[in-house]
Amino acid sequence: MATNAPILSYYDPKQPLTLNVDTSSKGLGAVLLQNDKPIAYASRALTPTQQRYAQIEKETLAIVFGCQKFHHYVYGRQVEYKGLKLIIPTSLRKEILQLIHEPHMGIVKCETRAREFMYWPGMMPDIKDIVEKCETCAVNNKEPMITSKLPDRPSSKLAADLFQFKGEHYLLTVDYYSKLPEIETG
Ligand SMILES: [Zn+2]
Repeated sequence: MATNAPILSYYDPKQPLTLNVDTSSKGLGAVLLQNDKPIAYASRALTPTQQRYAQIEKETLAIVFGCQKFHHYVYGRQVEYKGLKLIIPTSLRKEILQLIHEPHMGIVKCETRAREFMYWPGMMPDIKDIVEKCETCAVNNKEPMITSKLPDRPSSKLAADLFQFKGEHYLLTVDYYSKLPEIETG
């Protein structure tokens, strides 16, 4: 866990981003790096159930958590995905669904975001199911402002790649959209 946070750098839209995750017995953390410098942090405590997870499950949870927390770097833009996808183990699917669906943006946005970096057999029907049963999503999707919520954002292109290197998982993205980071402290 990052307890002594160094000074955060500004986000340079022309530079690639790296997501690095960290897990401990009690919590998980995600840091978004650019040129080896942190630009945003997020961390959260694990529930007693999650604390008993295998290491790989905690790491998977941390990656999805990181993607969720830093979604404003990738969200609402055209994403070109290539390379390995994160295969979500059965034991984690229910809470991953909750995470991915947290902003209550409806089925299409949920699916788009999920497809960017993760997979399991039947993921799309599972997403459809959770969104259809959600009252907040139903309300949000009746608001025309929600679907056109990002008119000030240029439709720039972004390339993303999730990969594993020396036992660590990374999400590497490159985009051309200029925006200063929101600092997430969890
Ligand atoms: Zn919802």
